[in-house]
Amino acid sequence: MDTSDSSVRSGDEHGPAHRLIPGAARSPVILHVPHGSRTITPGVRAGIVLDDAALERELDLITDAHTQELAERAARAAPVTPWRFVNARSRLVVDPERFPDEREEMRAVGMGAVYTRTTHRAPLRAEPPWDEDALLARYFEPYAQAMTRAVADRIAATGRAVIIDVHSYPSRALPYELHGSGPRPPVCLGTDPFHTPAALLAHAREAFAPLGEVGLNTPFAGTYVPLRYYGEDPRVTALMLELRRDVYLDEPVTPHEGLAAAAAALADLVRQA
Ligand SMILES: [Zn+2]
Repeated sequence: MDTSDSSVRSGDEHGPAHRLIPGAARSPVILHVPHGSRTITPGVRAGIVLDDAALERELDLITDAHTQELAERAARAAPVTPWRFVNARSRLVVDPERFPDEREEMRAVGMGAVYTRTTHRAPLRAEPPWDEDALLARYFEPYAQAMTRAVADRIAATGRAVIIDVHSYPSRALPYELHGSGPRPPVCLGTDPFHTPAALLAHAREAFAPLGEVGLNTPFAGTYVPLRYYGEDPRVTALMLELRRDVYLDEPVTPHEGLAAAAAALADLVRQA
């Protein structure tokens, strides 16, 4: 099974831009961690107009801090080890979950695949970014291809794939949020009408209940499925976890004891998925 070629090809001076960390051959589950990294290479940094202090503050707000660790702990605790697909670059490089074109509603606030605005709607890059095409070619497209292949591999090995998208969100709404006025429960589950079966959602509700109230699609909705499969292949099921950050962090970025409980809950979902 091929697990590393695309990572090598899409790397930069800091190494692979994303990693597929193998799980058990019989596991259909991929824990997808797109927003946990703060890494921005110097060449990409050059296209960002913030000074260093402002960039650090923006990374505090935009990064789903310690979600890699959350997924790693859950993987270790699960009786059958899930696979992990981890973005090793900041979402300020590219956001792999956004559509790279006009389909993306977040383009309205400068947060398509290549962000041009901060969480407070201040300038982040030139509009349009001078390096947008290069960023999409170097980071966005290889990531999408590698994730598609990871899903294909799980289907080939197990007959299905279960994508659990691992995110967190700030307890107080940021100005960029398009749906920030809705409820902000401790656990938000994002679902898709085609790809989230009732049983997967029921398992998730049960697994995350120990963390507090579980809400659906508020304040963030939907879940990530590679375009090749999206709306087409029912063997690919998916669910997004958006954990409110105060559940496991002293915001913005310092983990507290809630991280262990969150990892146990995620492991419980993996076990049932
Ligand atoms: Zn996220």
